[in-house]
Amino acid sequence: MRTQKLPRVDLFGPCITRAWTIRAVEAGALNLSQGFPEDEPPTDVIVAACEAIRLGPNQYADMRGAPALRRAVAAYYRTRGLDWVDADEHVSITCGSTEAMAASVLAVAGPGDEVVIAQPCYENYPPQALIAGARVRYMNLVPPKWEITRELLDGTFGPDTKVLILNTPNNPTGRVFTRNELQLVAEYACRFDVQVLVDEIYEHLVWDEREHVRLATLPGMAERTVTVSGISKTYSATGWRVGWAVAPNDMTLALRRVHDFLTATVPTPFQTAAVVALGEPPDYYRALVCSYEARRQLLANFLAEAGLDFETPEGAYYFFPSCEPLGFPDANAFAEALLEKGKVAVVPYSAFYREAAVGGGKYRFRINFAKNETTLRQAGERLVAFARSRG
Ligand code: PLP
Repeated sequence: MRTQKLPRVDLFGPCITRAWTIRAVEAGALNLSQGFPEDEPPTDVIVAACEAIRLGPNQYADMRGAPALRRAVAAYYRTRGLDWVDADEHVSITCGSTEAMAASVLAVAGPGDEVVIAQPCYENYPPQALIAGARVRYMNLVPPKWEITRELLDGTFGPDTKVLILNTPNNPTGRVFTRNELQLVAEYACRFDVQVLVDEIYEHLVWDEREHVRLATLPGMAERTVTVSGISKTYSATGWRVGWAVAPNDMTLALRRVHDFLTATVPTPFQTAAVVALGEPPDYYRALVCSYEARRQLLANFLAEAGLDFETPEGAYYFFPSCEPLGFPDANAFAEALLEKGKVAVVPYSAFYREAAVGGGKYRFRINFAKNETTLRQAGERLVAFARSRG
């Protein structure tokens, strides 16, 4: 039995989301919990990875990221509103966007600094800030709109606020924050001199022709924003662990210093393959969106048939429905019962909230539609049967 205190680790528990994947496997359940696709990466990207292993290089890459990939990432952003991005000055390749966020928050926040996190949030952000020694303040988005408003920002930002962590398109709410909402964020970030770490990993998973607005393109934001993204979701390659951070040079130098001692480099062959991924033609992205929109509709039909309340996601591949109509005390109880009796794994609200889940948040659970049609139909049928068995 351990008696020694672990000052950083004792601040947070194990990851709930990833634990549900382990539980799904152990229970033989359909896993709609953790957000990874059932699709494989595009064939040309897979071939590129195999070739890269066969032909090399297979040794450590440049700690900043393989030059060819940094050049590809810089070119990608230069055509998307950030014409200042330079491969050497502003792009760092990391082990997924997860490491990009961790290295960034460790670089910019220290003991006692206030880090604001919009809640509900991707489960990694609070522990990442806490590992940095920061104090976390939660900015509570309220269902069903999950909107960023002036009142919300007024009630959150203060003279102590140093960093904001934001995610758009958003996991778990499915929001794609509008230009107006992000302009408000920019206004407050500039006024309070806050650095913003924005996670845009779902940037291509935007539905109904909505616009994904890059925060760093808004006035005053280029110099105070770290944009985090990667290949995991857009190219169905979550296991390859290739992400990046794009930031002004001072922040780039700072986060690279953390990255250098955290993971040092990213698997070299997968960086070579990521260059091919970034070269996919526009049709690739259109087909991806089209296919996910069809799956979103399929799962929406089952959720409605099961009698659940939900908003239709604007982006990212999650619904965040409420189980309140089914009479459960909260979504933890719902997820446990659904796993045991319905053999479907979802992620309950407790993964996304560290503080009071306002506006009925405790009834919310996340279910993803990044699965093929057969899996989604099976899971949907099980969910409906489970809901009916409740009477
Ligand atoms: N950011 C968000 C908002 C996510 O939902 C996820 C995965 O679910 C990640 C980052 C992880 O991305 P990566 O595989 O690039 O580390």
